[in-house]
Amino acid sequence: MSDEKNAEKTSKNKPKTGAGRPSREQAEDAVRVLLRWAGDDPAREGLIDTPARVVRAYEEFFAGYDHDPREILSRTFSEVDGYDEMIVLKDIRFESYCEHHMVPIIGRAHVAYLPEHRVVGISKLARLVDAFAKRLQIQEKMTAQIADTLNEVLQPKGVGVILEAAHQCMSTRGVHKAGVTMVTSRMLGTFRSDPSTRREFLAIVGTPGVMSMPNT
Ligand SMILES: [Zn+2]
Repeated sequence: MSDEKNAEKTSKNKPKTGAGRPSREQAEDAVRVLLRWAGDDPAREGLIDTPARVVRAYEEFFAGYDHDPREILSRTFSEVDGYDEMIVLKDIRFESYCEHHMVPIIGRAHVAYLPEHRVVGISKLARLVDAFAKRLQIQEKMTAQIADTLNEVLQPKGVGVILEAAHQCMSTRGVHKAGVTMVTSRMLGTFRSDPSTRREFLAIVGTPGVMSMPNT
């Protein structure tokens, strides 16, 4: 591969963390190793295309590494005709992946902020959630990343983020507990300091159980 082509590939994958990303062929080989480790034969007919499919699926699962969350929020609007009430996007479905077991974490995010001067298109809030979800994650970290990024880029009066999710590493292995939902929240600014703002947010998203949660 020429240097030019190499440079092009590198810049395309710029936000990917870690140098020396393996090639597609190497990734497919790794899947073959795991298939053999599971006890199957990667050469049998039904599995012959599986490594290529798994690698393509990984490109979707982990697309978040290719997105810069701050960039997503960079286009803001300041013409809001004095609107200064809470903006809430609730029930944003997300699929993430547990960084300990690489199995899905599936849930809903509720994202709110109290604008100071600037607002952002609501689809951007959903894209912000995806940019952090489509990576290897733990739910606590993802909750903090969404809230902190919103807070840093928009500099609103306050930010509230609640994530409710089921972890397949709990339901399909280990303790095998299905139907368990983990709830995490992060409240910043007025969402942290003003109980009435927090109450309003919790009432809108309908998750009163979060009231007693520690502020993490
Ligand atoms: Zn796990």
